[in-house]
Amino acid sequence: MEFGLRRILLQSIFETSMPLNIEDIYNGNKKAIARAISVVENESKDANSLLAELYSHTGGAYRLGITGPPGAGKSTLVDNLTRLYRKDGKSIGIVAVDPTSPFTGGALLGDRLRLQELSLNKDFFFRSMASRGSTGGISKTTNDVVDILDSSGKEVIMIETVGVGQSELDVAEASDTTLVVIVPDSGDEIQAMKAGLMEIADIFVLNKSDHSGADTAYSALQAMLQLREEKAWIPKIIKTSALKNEGIDDLMNALNEHEAWMKSENRLFERRKSRLKDRVKDIIADDLNSDFWTKERISLLNSIIDKSENGTITPYSLVEELKNLHQPK
Ligand code: GDP
Repeated sequence: MEFGLRRILLQSIFETSMPLNIEDIYNGNKKAIARAISVVENESKDANSLLAELYSHTGGAYRLGITGPPGAGKSTLVDNLTRLYRKDGKSIGIVAVDPTSPFTGGALLGDRLRLQELSLNKDFFFRSMASRGSTGGISKTTNDVVDILDSSGKEVIMIETVGVGQSELDVAEASDTTLVVIVPDSGDEIQAMKAGLMEIADIFVLNKSDHSGADTAYSALQAMLQLREEKAWIPKIIKTSALKNEGIDDLMNALNEHEAWMKSENRLFERRKSRLKDRVKDIIADDLNSDFWTKERISLLNSIIDKSENGTITPYSLVEELKNLHQPK
């Protein structure tokens, strides 16, 4: 895009008298990144043009998904991994999605005292988000926010979410490598683990291995993995104690191994192609849905159902009526 046009675009996007160059995002400027995220989260009218512009600068970041039950130690682990990556000089983005919370914002970093010393660091960006998805999945916006961080030059982006509802499947879709974090407190818990989690894990992290029962849990998990359909990648099981910072090197080795595997034989490329297809379908589904539900259709739906006697109307006839409603231009 020509520079003058880009300036105007961004001026309108940021609704401020101070023009903001998109290069600031690419250079990792925290304020510019935060403003771009707000544009996307608030679904401002310019969000799509911003994302379209940024997209050509994405693809450099490796995307790690971290999911598992609440309290399993996901955020403690993410903090430990962040430290290790930073030692290696890698720039890091973290998107913490809480599908159970209506609150969005940066405030939650305040709860994560362990990472606070990084808050001013240009090579680190943390963002917490609520999830708007009614199915408890992570929202489309999460992928957009990850794109913004990717375009800002982050080398590793961690997407952390509680494994409830649809969220663990969504996070696996959004990630190049997926970690499933579980605790060894009781073998029963592993037995009860949702089949979905078995399918999506590239690496199982058996965290809180300082608790008793870690070895039993390890064997139980291994036995369960053998029941799984044969796949090209056999998920690793890594025992960690995030609290004592133990096993994190092993976890990092497993991550590197999976990343190298993904990068061989075009696997990463294929995974990203399939992600792109899914995202296009999701965006179209969202757009069609919001185009369809005009005020007129919503009020027709409400008035027919409110006036009807129980059982006198079928959803299908109503769908036809709504589809055929003449739309005022
Ligand atoms: P999350 O909900 O999965 O993000 O879990 P958190 O990281 O917030 O951890 C939940 C609680 O478990 C916190 O009190 C942590 O200090 C504690 N915790 C995390 N990792 C470990 C561990 O390896 N061992 C023990 N004993 N406690 C841990």
